[in-house]
Amino acid sequence: MYLENSLDFARLADQQDPLRAYRDQFIFPQHNGQDCLYLCGNSLGLQPRGIRPAILRELDHWAEHGVEGHFRGDMPWMHYHRFLTDAAARLVGALPQEVVVMNTLTTNLHLMMVSFYRPTAQRYKIVMEAGAFPSDQYAMESQVRWHGYDPATAIIEVAPREGEDTLRTEDIVQIIEREGDSIALVMFGGVNYYTGQLYELEKIAAAGHRAGAYVGFDLAHAAGNVPLRLHDWGADFAVWCSYKYLNSGPGGPSGCFVHERHANNPDLPRFAGWWGHDENERFQMKKGFKPMPGASGWQLSNAQIFSFAAHKASLDLFDQAGMEALRSKSEHLTTFLEMVLDEADKGRNMYRIITPRDPAARGCQISLLTDHRGKALFQYLADHGVVADWREPNVIRFAPVPLYNGFEDVWRLGELVRTCEL
Ligand SMILES: *Cc1c(COP(=O)(O)O)cnc(C)c1O
Repeated sequence: MYLENSLDFARLADQQDPLRAYRDQFIFPQHNGQDCLYLCGNSLGLQPRGIRPAILRELDHWAEHGVEGHFRGDMPWMHYHRFLTDAAARLVGALPQEVVVMNTLTTNLHLMMVSFYRPTAQRYKIVMEAGAFPSDQYAMESQVRWHGYDPATAIIEVAPREGEDTLRTEDIVQIIEREGDSIALVMFGGVNYYTGQLYELEKIAAAGHRAGAYVGFDLAHAAGNVPLRLHDWGADFAVWCSYKYLNSGPGGPSGCFVHERHANNPDLPRFAGWWGHDENERFQMKKGFKPMPGASGWQLSNAQIFSFAAHKASLDLFDQAGMEALRSKSEHLTTFLEMVLDEADKGRNMYRIITPRDPAARGCQISLLTDHRGKALFQYLADHGVVADWREPNVIRFAPVPLYNGFEDVWRLGELVRTCEL
């Protein structure tokens, strides 16, 4: 796509954008009576207009039916998770049976590790990315300790090379090969929250399996951001949240993937609850856990209906827009953003882009590593209605989200940065 750093170009590109109409389906926070320049969908996605009626519908259902709401209507609460499964499966490239929406992300990560991190004296290590999101680091460390091992020796972190900001797939693969049969689990993010790097998940999964390890992915920053093919890539499990790119609201429910090959494996230990029990017998209240086949068998509790209703409304938008179309626009937007940020910094060198320059190697995000002027730049942008985010010690992240951001947003950001006097 031809790109030019001008307002005319940005407006034309927005006019020609086939996804343009989706912007009107979102509610923008206001700044001085105008829509904020919202570039923070990687942290909390904006509210789709369809969510309020979806939640009200469930409130009304409750008001009208009380406990019978579990069984009545066209979306009885008893089966509510099922109404999200197909759309969630399409989003991550899975079979419906391989996906369930439940709990929240870190909880699901632990549940998955109960089944897929079972260290032995020989095979006890976890290979993961250095600088993973803190919750993932804490989950890995606490799981390792819980099994009686020492994180210092059991966790192998793959770090960027000296002088580089992001990981090379060849280094990830090489470390997996080196650690070989001492690895119990290879656990990677899909898109790194800090740098925006998109990892080559298929190659990581293949390398992990060649070493005889289980492979899991945390797709918090990848779900709704990049096309995924979890089933074909063969990951053993994956987890993600729904409040970032998936716009399902604060604390929204998590998605969980368990590959078909584990669907009916009775030898796989798990933490069980009544909602994972065979549906036909659940209310017989009998002794003896009998898991539902597939990912549903990992459910513990009955569904959080209001947040599930919000998530369903939001997944509908992804079904309509299509992940391929979103990804295509996202690549153009980040390329345009990279261009305006490079030009705005000419002669000043306030920052360096640490996100991969290749659009195919990143998600919908550009991260700036700033110098001592970074905090002031961030404050200036906030004062002018830009919602971005600051990550300690000195990184600013911008996420131009294809569902509701456009080229003019990106151009305006560039102008603010260019005209900011520091
Ligand atoms: C956002 C995010 C989390 C947050 O976890 P919650 O359990 O949803 O609070 C965890 N891991 C990663 C990689 C994230 O990006």
